[in-house]
Amino acid sequence: MNWGFVGASTIAGQYMAAAIRAQSRGDLRWVISNNPERAAEFAQTHRAALHGTELQQALVDATVTAVYISSTNEKHHAQALAAIAAGKHVLCEKPLALCVRDAAEMVDAAERAGVTLATNHHLRSAGSIRAIRDLIAAGRIGRVLSVRVFHAVELPPHLRGWRLDNPGAGGGVISDLTVHNADLVRFLLAEDPISVMAEMDTTGLGQGVEDSAMSVWAMPSGAMVFSHESFTHPYAASGVEVHGTSGLIMARGVLAQDPVGEIDLVTQQGTTRIAFDQGGIYERVVTDFIAAIDDQRAPAASGRDGLKSLQIAEAVRVAALTGQRQPINYGEFL
Ligand code: NDP
Repeated sequence: MNWGFVGASTIAGQYMAAAIRAQSRGDLRWVISNNPERAAEFAQTHRAALHGTELQQALVDATVTAVYISSTNEKHHAQALAAIAAGKHVLCEKPLALCVRDAAEMVDAAERAGVTLATNHHLRSAGSIRAIRDLIAAGRIGRVLSVRVFHAVELPPHLRGWRLDNPGAGGGVISDLTVHNADLVRFLLAEDPISVMAEMDTTGLGQGVEDSAMSVWAMPSGAMVFSHESFTHPYAASGVEVHGTSGLIMARGVLAQDPVGEIDLVTQQGTTRIAFDQGGIYERVVTDFIAAIDDQRAPAASGRDGLKSLQIAEAVRVAALTGQRQPINYGEFL
């Protein structure tokens, strides 16, 4: 289970190299970057055996079983198709692509090739988010009336690059965070939004891309969803509130890369702090991805999940641009 990393990125260095090392088998064999110095530096820092600037170098290596793609968003589509064509399993960063049609092509190619395509919607693998989902599924808050997702944060200085000024690379808060919120809500409620209304704006950091968005989604069950994303909110805490007919789940600080935050269940009996598994989130993504390949089952967040989250995010963008409610037709691409 050797890996090729495509993209000498922050997330690859901060989390994914360690997540792969934490597994009982497999290693980081290749890192591919457009820049030879960056490839060499990444390989040295993160102990990759080999490095290069051509994706094919990793793809022709028969000992590489899986590829992790964390380049900027406009590159995911072509890189994933090349990896799939080479018979590699692919763990791809979100958003899967810049447009839904490209993401659908990736899903289709993986299914035809019989390889696993996963999307790194890591929140599904967080103990906190799983605990919230379990509370909902167990009926602890009754019928869900509404969900409010707070993902307005301040983009850390070291990430203030293409996300803020490069629409061609997939910059903007909708590509970055709305896709995560979309996957989160789908995971928690086990249903897909049927329509969205939205506003977006540039509020201090974005240059040519939106840095803030708010949207309201209608769910088939009748539940209403409010989703708030921003790069410009220095004092906000991330969180999720799930309001039900007989209780409320209040989670603060859980939309994170580390297993942090607090969850309270509020019912007629009072407020109970909910414990959750605090294992490494990205480690679990990788463990699940490997098990999905072994067991020939879908991974925690599949290519189809990545496609749907992108459809929802794209609908949010179009709704904000046009001022019109956007119905979402998943059948069009699945
Ligand atoms: P980075 O900006 O750190 O890296 C993206 C690309 O930029 C790299 O592949 C690299 O290109 C290039 N790059 C990196 N450092 C430099 C530098 N110093 N100078 C010039 N170029 C550089 O991106 P992120 O790690 O923030 O995001 C990468 C992907 O991961 C995105 O798709 C993003 O949406 C996703 N992501 C997902 C998260 C999750 O939790 N699932 C969290 C964070 C990001 P090259 O490879 O050619 O060297």
